[in-house]
Amino acid sequence: MKTHTFGPEYGFATRAVHTGNDIDQDSGAIKRPITLANSYALPYDPTDMNWSSAGGNLYTRNGGTNQKYLQERLASLEGGEDCVVLGSGVAALSGLFFAMLNQGDHVIFSSVTYIAVYRLLNELFNNKFGVETTIVDTSDPANVEAAIRPNTKLIHIETPGNPTLTISDIAAIAEIAHRHGALLSVDNTFASPFNQRPIELGADFTIESLTKYINGHGDAMGGAIIGRTEHLDKIRAQSQVNLGGIISPFNAWLITRGSVTLPLRMRQHNENARKVAQWLEAQPCVSFVAYPGLESHKGHEVAKKQMSPGFGGVLSFGLKADHDTHNRFVSYLNVITSAVSLGHDESLIVFLGENDERQYLYPEEFHNGFFRFSVGIEDVEDIIGDLKQAMEKAGLYDQ
Ligand SMILES: *Cc1c(COP(=O)(O)O)cnc(C)c1O
Repeated sequence: MKTHTFGPEYGFATRAVHTGNDIDQDSGAIKRPITLANSYALPYDPTDMNWSSAGGNLYTRNGGTNQKYLQERLASLEGGEDCVVLGSGVAALSGLFFAMLNQGDHVIFSSVTYIAVYRLLNELFNNKFGVETTIVDTSDPANVEAAIRPNTKLIHIETPGNPTLTISDIAAIAEIAHRHGALLSVDNTFASPFNQRPIELGADFTIESLTKYINGHGDAMGGAIIGRTEHLDKIRAQSQVNLGGIISPFNAWLITRGSVTLPLRMRQHNENARKVAQWLEAQPCVSFVAYPGLESHKGHEVAKKQMSPGFGGVLSFGLKADHDTHNRFVSYLNVITSAVSLGHDESLIVFLGENDERQYLYPEEFHNGFFRFSVGIEDVEDIIGDLKQAMEKAGLYDQ
């Protein structure tokens, strides 16, 4: 019977199909089953069991089989030694920060990140636990170097950053972190491991919101931390078993299933987003387009160095329009859905920025409201056609 693991000698797409899957020894089924039971049989003499241990089959909060299969696949796709999967991307972020930071430690993080990073580090960890924080524009590595203190423990960046698509140089920042005895974590959600693998570029941790591209179908939440076992054992013990941020077996199974087509979907996202970005850039009613694949993007050269074969499916753009015209434009869209989240099969658009308290941290062109657009895998002619007819109806070609 075929039972072997698929290591790095195999290509990305082969590993996305096979790693973490195997023949079920009980039934011979060629897909591993979902194990919904939350408890596992104890040995004859359980007195020596460590009830807080992670990994073995004991109780699903300590680790379940579907979580384990997904972890095998993600560690492989990200090029990391080990992986912990939790219940959401934010559970992965807070789980990393909770296990790795102590009172009195200092953290540097990007001025452009997912909102929960700002809340966690700048408000909660800071005020509750006495963790020092500095927010810097990490698109220039010199700003990171200048912010280092003797107690800097962790640097956390997001590239491309949500929602401005700001690019930071992973290899350069990893070098700075390690020279000063700090660790680097990179939120890779916008790129996905198909386009960018931070650990191969020197990062210590990669964070993924599995809710986005890796699941890809908009029907499950999950998060992953990829890194070295010495660190992940700590995260498993503190943040999985004791904080309890576990993923449900069903969601782990859904995400494992969704991730099979990650390479196919990402190829289409990359291509559609590039074409949509180019089209938007040519429209007179569009004030700016931020997409790292465009030559006009400030971070294009760094993005080309660390992202391949493409630049992902998310872009941001501005319209030369007043407040109400933005809303009317969205109301005329038929193919593109107005909703938060990104990385789904369908195109999703959200109007942001007018009331964002972090606006002062964003580049100037983002200050009057903008759209974050997650370009889906529909026919690109239909996506562009939908934007065009909504712009026409909203009167954006008449000004
Ligand atoms: C969505 C997102 C997260 C949070 O993930 P959830 O699964 O929603 O908790 C973290 N980082 C980035 C870049 C995201 O886009």
